[in-house]
Amino acid sequence: MLKDRFTIQYSDGSFGGYQPSKAVCIGRNYAKHATELNNPLPKKPILFLKTPNTFVSMSPGFGIPVDCGACHHELEIYLLIRQRLTFKSFSTLTLNDCIAAVGLALDLTLRDRQNELKQRSEPWTLAKAFDGACPLSTCVEFEQCSSWQSWGLSFEVNGDLRQSGKVCDMLWCIPALLEIIVQDITLEPGDLVLTGTPEGVQPLQVGDHFRATFLHEDEPKVISAGKVFSN
Ligand code: ZN
Repeated sequence: MLKDRFTIQYSDGSFGGYQPSKAVCIGRNYAKHATELNNPLPKKPILFLKTPNTFVSMSPGFGIPVDCGACHHELEIYLLIRQRLTFKSFSTLTLNDCIAAVGLALDLTLRDRQNELKQRSEPWTLAKAFDGACPLSTCVEFEQCSSWQSWGLSFEVNGDLRQSGKVCDMLWCIPALLEIIVQDITLEPGDLVLTGTPEGVQPLQVGDHFRATFLHEDEPKVISAGKVFSN
């Protein structure tokens, strides 16, 4: 079912040649999402990875596993990394040097499986990094949405608003996240940072119609819509 390595596409239809080698994801970056799953607020960001087998296009639709329990949607803003970021290089760079573009990702999560893994103190890999676990929208250049404090996102399913959030509600803001990640993990050009999900995560069903929106200064900059099918 997976094709070649996924290439990020811009909203104007062009390709920047970016192929993510990984996505570094942040768990529990919005306080209300942590509490809705009865998790404590973290003292440091929780990091995990999505691998290249997870990246697929969000629109016109994406597949979810069947017979694996609940598959939750976690809509998140992704940062597309422009150049190699190391702990050494990071302090000399501006955010515009670091981030090429911004878009939306679904951190699909097999929630029942994740709860089993947590109980056994095992890594979340099989709940978070299965084939197709990271549908991606197109993106817009960072220059076109550089006041990141105004970013927002929303996710509708069958016309109902399920998730809605603002970057100003994050526990760790955009520059802080990058700084924390590169202390231990070098980011390559084309890599993604998934910045966490606001509250409202729920199971997806085959046949659902979804609409994901990225807002900059209250204006929609990226909209990705389509249908959920079975993998
Ligand atoms: Zn997530």
